[in-house]
Amino acid sequence: MKLTVLGCHSPYPPVDGAGPGYLLTHAGANVLLDCGSGVVSKLGQYLDPKGGKLAAVVLSHLHADHFCDLLVLRYAHMLAMQGTKVSPLAVYCPEEPEAERAVLPFRQILALQTIDERSHFSLADMTFSFYRTKHIYPCYAVRVEAEGSSLVYTGDTAWDEGLVEFAALADVLLVEACFTEQNKGENPAQHMSARECGVLAEQAMVGKLILTHLPPIGDGAELLAEARATFSGETILAFSGLCFEL
Ligand SMILES: [Zn+2]
Repeated sequence: MKLTVLGCHSPYPPVDGAGPGYLLTHAGANVLLDCGSGVVSKLGQYLDPKGGKLAAVVLSHLHADHFCDLLVLRYAHMLAMQGTKVSPLAVYCPEEPEAERAVLPFRQILALQTIDERSHFSLADMTFSFYRTKHIYPCYAVRVEAEGSSLVYTGDTAWDEGLVEFAALADVLLVEACFTEQNKGENPAQHMSARECGVLAEQAMVGKLILTHLPPIGDGAELLAEARATFSGETILAFSGLCFEL
């Protein structure tokens, strides 16, 4: 299974950057995890967005920073479907909030499927399972397994003990590091500090920690140092273009 980071910034992308978007490729099939601002442009570096080459899009939750580019990816997929046998694009997402989900359908271009904690399915020999995180909108962490390798992506969440078991022994933990411990404050939006990311990685005994959902300003050095102080394994910052085989 190959992971390619298309974008990793929030709540908005920096110049030439993109919001959360992670391309998983396995056995010739492509699945997109989240589709933030600028992700379609980055996706075009790896595959033709109107080529019908995406098996599915999985959205952790329906905050705009995680799904807004799906609204234009629909147009690319509409072109893919014209005069061909390409099917509507499968999109897996939470049922709520209703108002956000209601903006997704467009001329039967998308085949919307609901995810919850019981969801478990396979796409191109990758199996997907989910865990409801602590966030203001319903949000699901995703565990993806393929041929003995595993990736856990937290989506957005405050610290949640239950993630330790969900992420246990994953080869790669892709986790949102919105804040340093110092600037976390009251945390009304429910995100994790980089220190907590490191603690999660250490307790879950993962192979490698990738910090993502990074602020659009700054170099992330403080986030990296905080996470490295609590996790003894390899820890890196995500960036657009980061790509490796699990
Ligand atoms: Zn977010």
